[in-house]
Amino acid sequence: MTEPSLEKLTAEGERERVSVLVPLPFPTALDYLAPAGSVAPGDLVSVPLGRRQETGCVWEAQTDVPADFAPVTGRAVPLARLKPLLGRLDLPSIPADLRRFIDWLAAYTLTPPGLVLAMAIRARHTQPTRVQLGWIRGSAETTGLRMTEARQRVLDVVGDVPLSTASLTEKTGVSAAVLRGLAAAGALREMPLVVPPLFAPPEPGFHVPHLSIEQQEAADRLAEGVRAHRFSVTLLEGVTGSGKTEVYFEAVAACLAAGKQCLVLLPEIALSTQWTDRFARRFGVQPALWHSELGGKKRRETWHAIAQGQASVVVGARSALFLPFPDLGLIIVDEEHESAFKQEEGVTYHGRDMAIVRARLSDVPAILVSATPSLETLTNVETGRYGHVTLQSRHGNAKLPEVRLLDMRRAPPERGQFLAPELIGAVQACFERQEQAMLFLNRRGYAPLTLCRACGHRMECPHCSAWLVEHRARQILTCHHCGYHAALPETCPSCEAEASLVAIGPGIERVYEEAKLHFPEARILVMASDTLGSPSATAEAVRRISEREIDLVIGTQIVAKGWHFPDLTLVGVVDADLGLGGGDLRAAERTVQLLHQVSGRAGRADKPGTVLLQSYLGDHPVMKALVSNDYQAFMEQESAQRKPGFWPPYGRLAALIVSADSAEAADRLAGLLGAKAPDLPGTQVLGPAPAPLAILRGRHRRRLLLRTRRNVAVQPILREWLEGVKLTTHERIDIDIDPISFL
Ligand code: ADP
Ligand code: ZN
Repeated sequence: MTEPSLEKLTAEGERERVSVLVPLPFPTALDYLAPAGSVAPGDLVSVPLGRRQETGCVWEAQTDVPADFAPVTGRAVPLARLKPLLGRLDLPSIPADLRRFIDWLAAYTLTPPGLVLAMAIRARHTQPTRVQLGWIRGSAETTGLRMTEARQRVLDVVGDVPLSTASLTEKTGVSAAVLRGLAAAGALREMPLVVPPLFAPPEPGFHVPHLSIEQQEAADRLAEGVRAHRFSVTLLEGVTGSGKTEVYFEAVAACLAAGKQCLVLLPEIALSTQWTDRFARRFGVQPALWHSELGGKKRRETWHAIAQGQASVVVGARSALFLPFPDLGLIIVDEEHESAFKQEEGVTYHGRDMAIVRARLSDVPAILVSATPSLETLTNVETGRYGHVTLQSRHGNAKLPEVRLLDMRRAPPERGQFLAPELIGAVQACFERQEQAMLFLNRRGYAPLTLCRACGHRMECPHCSAWLVEHRARQILTCHHCGYHAALPETCPSCEAEASLVAIGPGIERVYEEAKLHFPEARILVMASDTLGSPSATAEAVRRISEREIDLVIGTQIVAKGWHFPDLTLVGVVDADLGLGGGDLRAAERTVQLLHQVSGRAGRADKPGTVLLQSYLGDHPVMKALVSNDYQAFMEQESAQRKPGFWPPYGRLAALIVSADSAEAADRLAGLLGAKAPDLPGTQVLGPAPAPLAILRGRHRRRLLLRTRRNVAVQPILREWLEGVKLTTHERIDIDIDPISFL
């Protein structure tokens, strides 16, 4: 790793106080001394910190953070005690809009701003692409140069376009020493090589699709918003297969035509292979990718290309929000309803919500895209804060699939099996029509529970309050929360009965086993995040399905994503009730969204699609919404349920998760917080209560939930509540603003 070079600052003249934010958990920026006018906000600098040296960013006072959740700052060290700044780094600076975003997000999520800055500068360490030199012809009049055959060969080849040493030695068969000799005599000269840019510019007009009237209208409205160069939010809502991607590509084109950069957020980047191919077909080149699995070198190059304005379209995970775009023109959030946009570890933030904040602070338009928008977004549309563009029909001849319920009470599967006879028949019929089918079950592994038939003992994780999930292919029991795994014991660990452990319930491995039994001829592919971890594995799976090497796809939620497989006409949902337990605020909404999206994989081209939902809860509003395909009515019902209790989006939530190394310590700390709980109008504290995952990775967890009316900000309440609470090294309080997981 090359460290960027450090430009020393001349110490003549007056010195002034400079604030520097370092990527560490201090409550505010730190003050240093620098020659007056030598650095500007946004510059990356090197500062002394204790005995170390740290990279930081020159920061100004917070300006745009709303007063109602801005932290109180203002401790000033006297000028005489400040240490001098070491120097400025030869790196692109952090643009003002990104600095304001960092401040805003830090204040909103109650995170030390330095930890948010860390996300923005993690990839900085490199020289901006080092200039490489090549050879051109030098002066014709060389003094004292004895011409040899080798030297002549070189001079015959070089011209005015620089050639690298490697290519020149290869072309002529001479050694590099010969080149150096020629250069010393002046017969060759060095010139910077012309290196192609890392990201060739996408061409807005490379392949303009022929849009339907409805699509064209939608595209025009989005493009208009882009050309306004002002903050706005528009929801692009359209049924699955309506061409939402094609339509928002026109907004991307408008952004490119205006010479600005565009950021597209996708919930899961594993999804991106089909997406990037489509992008390349539309714009002639691949976009820049940004996600956590990007390797070190690629990551640094991409960061610099973006900072230099050279990468004009970036498609990324939520972390792409922290990239230093000098000239952002548009942010698109595809599948905006996805809970995968919420970051649950480290700095907890919602990628969709923060994308809107980023757009507002950068004064650029944002487009949210979904077939099943979140209640949050729909509410903003209703109140007129967001614009709304809709696509009502599928592209071309494709029709929406027919969704039918398979009532598991009436016609259940055979004992010990999980596929009802009607579903098996439908899959068989699908194969007979030479079409592809998909079975969906949102559960990895073989079985979610292993039980002793003799004594009823359940195999649980020793570190978490969770059952161990059997993964039969790997011959282990594993915990999906902490990764603990162990071999399946031969005797029950509790009563020592032999061969008494039985698998209860299905995971996709078990569905696979059953499918092999029913469809011995079929070519089956299992898709889950653990079997298809890498983008290349996903791309290979997509290729095999697209090229009809596969008859039946069995998968977890990874198969629900935006895939487009023209010959896939049947989707069977093995357990439609799965997401509905657990008392999660958004359980119903999320189940409808997920199952709607899975259903959307069926019949996307000329052949009609069918979706079969296996459910024991046929009368549940979720099943009714899916069968009638009336998302709007369902969301109206959801809204009516959340309004009276001021649940989001009609009120605000913040969760406190207390954890400690013993149950007693967790109870004590949670009890203390409970006793100190704010008692204010328009606010309510629920808990403390044991978290559903009462023990996680050996830590005992308790939860408290703060609920306020919409007009009450939770941040100052939390700050006051937590003030003076002392924690031992074994205790923690995690704050989750706008929580979406309640585990
Ligand atoms: P959605 O994102 O709404 O589910 P997509 O954008 O994936 O829909 O479009 C579904 C399929 O239809 C894709 O294969 C897409 O390329 C194709 N498609 C949509 N609109 C057009 C169009 N105007 N011309 C050609 N193909 C289109
Ligand atoms: Zn565990």
